[in-house]
Amino acid sequence: MAQRLLFDDLEIGEIAIELDDKEPQEVIAWAIDTFGDRVAVVTALQAEGMVVLDMAYQIKPDIQVITVDTGRLHDATYAFLDQVREAYSQARWRVLFPDGREVEAMVRRHGVNLFYKAVPLRLLCCQIRKVRPLIRALGQLDAWFTGLRREQWASRAAIRKVEIDHDHGGIVKINPLADWTKEEVWDYLRQRNVPYHPLYDQGYTSIGCAPCTRPIRPGEDDRAGRWWWEIGAPKECGIHCPIETGGFEHEAEAILKEAHGI
Ligand code: SF4
Repeated sequence: MAQRLLFDDLEIGEIAIELDDKEPQEVIAWAIDTFGDRVAVVTALQAEGMVVLDMAYQIKPDIQVITVDTGRLHDATYAFLDQVREAYSQARWRVLFPDGREVEAMVRRHGVNLFYKAVPLRLLCCQIRKVRPLIRALGQLDAWFTGLRREQWASRAAIRKVEIDHDHGGIVKINPLADWTKEEVWDYLRQRNVPYHPLYDQGYTSIGCAPCTRPIRPGEDDRAGRWWWEIGAPKECGIHCPIETGGFEHEAEAILKEAHGI
């Protein structure tokens, strides 16, 4: 197994200062140069992820690309995934799935649409179907690319272009689009003719699982269509920031015990 390349906060802090006013392509080039095959694009195929994927592909066509099939995606997402895989065919694609035993245990205890019942159950579903598969994959990497932007949500306002990801083993998290606006994202997609998710043309502005995403209404925030029935809960699944008051951890432990008998 390849030697892991780990940085500490101080080293990455200095690099972050250097890269902060650099173009996304320069940030991506630095990461690919630094981490080689140990960095991957992790994307749910939203607009920002497509920009990062397209940029990384120009530099390293065999870049590893990771996405999660939660089992609850829109039909349009499955069709789009096939389209994108064909368009970026040299990339090394990994489609992750949740652990079937964990999903079975969760559904046995709470039903298939548990997310509508309470915020902790929604976070539990995100944990089992999305976060845990990703955590398993991140454990094999030294760094990962995201499409996060600072203006997307309060929890993202302070992200840096490179940072240590303390929630995932201290690997490096690279956010090349941290200072981009939504307009810059869409200008890039149009100018380069990059494929984009078809649901954007139906009023969606942030696209996740089918039962948990709807188009936004005029004047609403771009992430308002995610878990729209919840009031005051973070519009996050838990992969990009720890959910401090999730209230689901105890139940998650019980599910893991039931699923794996440990
Ligand atoms: S977005 Fe909804 S269906 Fe998807 S993992 Fe989270 S709670 Fe479950």
